[in-house]
Amino acid sequence: SFTLAIVGRPNVGKSTLFNRLVGRKLALVDDLPGVTRDRRIHSAKLYDLNFDVIDTAGLEEMPSESLEGRMRAQTEAAIGEADLILFLVDAKAGVTPTDVTFADLVRRSGKPVVLVANKAEARGAEAGMYDSWQLGLGEPCPISAEHGQGFPDLRDAIIEAMGEERVFPDEHAEKDTDDSVAVSIPAAPGPSADLIGDDIDDPDAEDVPDYDSSKPLRIAIVGRPNAGKSTLVNTMLGEDRLLTGPEAGITRDSISVDWEWKGRKIKLFDTAGLRRKSRVQGKLEKLSVGDALRAIRFAEVVIIVLDATIPFEKQDLQIADLIIREGRAPVIAFNKWDLVENRQMVLADLREKTERLLPQIRGIRAVPISGERNQGIDKLMAAVATTDEIWNRRISTGRLNRWLEGVTTHHPPPAVAGRRLKIKYITQVKTRPPGFVISCSRPEAFPTSYVRYLSNGLRETFDMPGVPIRVVLRASD
Ligand code: GDP
Repeated sequence: SFTLAIVGRPNVGKSTLFNRLVGRKLALVDDLPGVTRDRRIHSAKLYDLNFDVIDTAGLEEMPSESLEGRMRAQTEAAIGEADLILFLVDAKAGVTPTDVTFADLVRRSGKPVVLVANKAEARGAEAGMYDSWQLGLGEPCPISAEHGQGFPDLRDAIIEAMGEERVFPDEHAEKDTDDSVAVSIPAAPGPSADLIGDDIDDPDAEDVPDYDSSKPLRIAIVGRPNAGKSTLVNTMLGEDRLLTGPEAGITRDSISVDWEWKGRKIKLFDTAGLRRKSRVQGKLEKLSVGDALRAIRFAEVVIIVLDATIPFEKQDLQIADLIIREGRAPVIAFNKWDLVENRQMVLADLREKTERLLPQIRGIRAVPISGERNQGIDKLMAAVATTDEIWNRRISTGRLNRWLEGVTTHHPPPAVAGRRLKIKYITQVKTRPPGFVISCSRPEAFPTSYVRYLSNGLRETFDMPGVPIRVVLRASD
């Protein structure tokens, strides 16, 4: 189980959400004599998730001079106690300076967070929701606490933020041992080994998919110190370097740089480490997970820069894991390719390692580049655009259910305790990354291996390599 805090400025709807999650009955249970729990902690339930919620209302009584000081102390206390933070904003009102201050506290804590855009049913709430991207807490999850809307997605977002193994520890324990029905997926088509130096007119280059030209594509560039991030960014930007400085409301820790690639607007998110580097040249930079996480949360696609001569160190895998957990679209750049001698062999080896070390996402795109010599960057960006397209992909319910019928006929769900498990239908409930809900009987009884069979099948059939995919079982009534 885990503990959750609902954080946000006054009037965004914290109590309404709290009451929805906790319910009155449960609060009463806590009042029973002999229950030794801290009374500010209430057990709560959201579909199949069981967790505790900190009652921040109780914290309001904490002594402090000013209203703002009190709010701040309350928020900090709640953050300190929680494993996960639901950061609430009022989508109808939009983002206010107080939201920004609070978001900073949350971000600095480094704890998992779900950005919740409440009052999403209101007129004009969409603008407020889009606005809340600027808080740097990742993708907003729209809900209406009052009208009970958006809770299935909130459930999924909580799982994403916490990591499935925290939320469903039992299920996870089973995962490593039961591999019987895993379906193998071919690796994504990648660039050929000899790409360096023949960037122009490569017939194998990926087509650049259509995109929404009104919004810039948000890309974070992360990696270990000395992987070559700064060099890559500088090469990308070339002469017309455009440091925009902090976006309104964003802390100084993260800045964005506007760029354009083949006419497409891009926002590159820079970590503090990047800029520090240029000022304090030569000094050894430590990997800051907090920095990486911030950049990842700002982004849609995340480029993981690996030093191809010393790839897949522990820190590299740590970063990759963060990206997958945050549900971002990852692309790997094997940098310093100019230093690699036996390219064909090294590339095959790196591809094999990628699939083995990052099994959660099959078919991650990985592109050899040389940031220093400006090689491979167009291919890298093509991979970014394709991955982004898949991350945004929506599949029609009709196609999904035709597929589901086929696979469940071919390999029906098992019988548990003498009764066959039944699957009714599947829908895609979200994009960025693609998320699916499968409606079934007794979701808790489904073996993880069968769920993986379905999610691997989805990935393969609908051609979605290289992005995280969420599949959730839900009891049908
Ligand atoms: P960061 O810490 O990730 O920002 O790494 P830097 O961009 O500062 O690069 C670290 C070192 O690797 C510097 O000495 C760079 O000159 C070198 N470097 C970066 N990219 C390349 C590359 O593509 N090829 C080679 N040979 N060296 C590179």
